[in-house]
Amino acid sequence: MGQDKVLFFEKEAILPYLSIVIPLYNEEESVDKLVARLLEVGSGFKFAYEILLIDDGSTDGTWKCIERLKEKVPHLKGIKLRRNCGQTGAMVAGFDNSLGQIIVAMDGDLQNDPADIPILLDKMNEGYDIVSGWRKDRKDHWSRVIPSKVANWMISAVTGVELHDYGCSLKAYRAECIKPISAYGEMHRFFPVLASMTGALITEIPVSHYARKYGTSKYGFNRIFKVLSDILSIILIVKFSSRPLLGFSICSLPFFFLAVFFSVLSILAIGLDWTHGKALFFTIVSGLCFLGMFHLIALGIVSEMVVNASDLSHTRLPQMTRKVISVCLASSDRDALSHHSTL
Ligand code: UDP
Ligand code: MG
Repeated sequence: MGQDKVLFFEKEAILPYLSIVIPLYNEEESVDKLVARLLEVGSGFKFAYEILLIDDGSTDGTWKCIERLKEKVPHLKGIKLRRNCGQTGAMVAGFDNSLGQIIVAMDGDLQNDPADIPILLDKMNEGYDIVSGWRKDRKDHWSRVIPSKVANWMISAVTGVELHDYGCSLKAYRAECIKPISAYGEMHRFFPVLASMTGALITEIPVSHYARKYGTSKYGFNRIFKVLSDILSIILIVKFSSRPLLGFSICSLPFFFLAVFFSVLSILAIGLDWTHGKALFFTIVSGLCFLGMFHLIALGIVSEMVVNASDLSHTRLPQMTRKVISVCLASSDRDALSHHSTL
């Protein structure tokens, strides 16, 4: 028992408060400079922290740089993915391997400034669960800035989470709010939206942004289409993932109205003695519309069962518990209880 206690305290002493998660894909020219900047900023921290560098299947010397840095920096962790999994996958690998209560994610190409980390942490101390960076003075080409502004506006409008800059990777998260989120594809832009479903308190602050000096952006023009399809997915996730039957029922409404419309037409066709061909046609179309409607409702019922059996984080209640205040026993009651339990 005594030994357990010592181990517990030792473990507690080395647990970092902050984990800095950085995905890297072919960023060999930036890694050393980035870590040097992080160590400079970290030397001012009054708590333990760790740096997690995730090599997302790089084909250049990124992993060699990480291995070299690990020899000199004990609180650095290197994680090498088997293949290029994308920024979201790399970030999730970092979250899964992190130990801090607070996680700060940022890009590894020096476009974000580590000097903003203490500012994000100060804001977190005001009680927020997520503090999102806002590249107010963004240093990217206008062909990227304008579509991004439109996308940000659309996401805010449909999700109700009002942020100016979803695409900025520099964000601070409370670990318990980000770790349970099941993210896939390129969902890293939507972390705040997904976390908001569990009631996370979210705010934003302006952060610095620099033009890319080394390497190239990993995204091309097709990003616009990917983001648009992701916005559609996120609407479905936010609005209907915990009640899919409602979503499918809404989709089935047009089929219902068409079915009623064609039923009326077929009755009229029979009543007005129209030709048999027309009546048969209207009856078949109305039957098909009813079939479509029932098919969608059946899909909704099956989806309800899938959600019920799945571990979709945002549909589960434990993540929504912010604090628990329980009954505090008076010391006399505690003594009586412990005496009773030893009998
Ligand atoms: N990144 C990654 N895997 C990818 C694409 C990007 O780990 O498949 C990393 C990349 O190395 C960088 C960050 O994600 O650290 C942001 O990528 P990038 O700078 O290309 O995005 P942009 O700033 O152009 O939006
Ligand atoms: Mg970049």
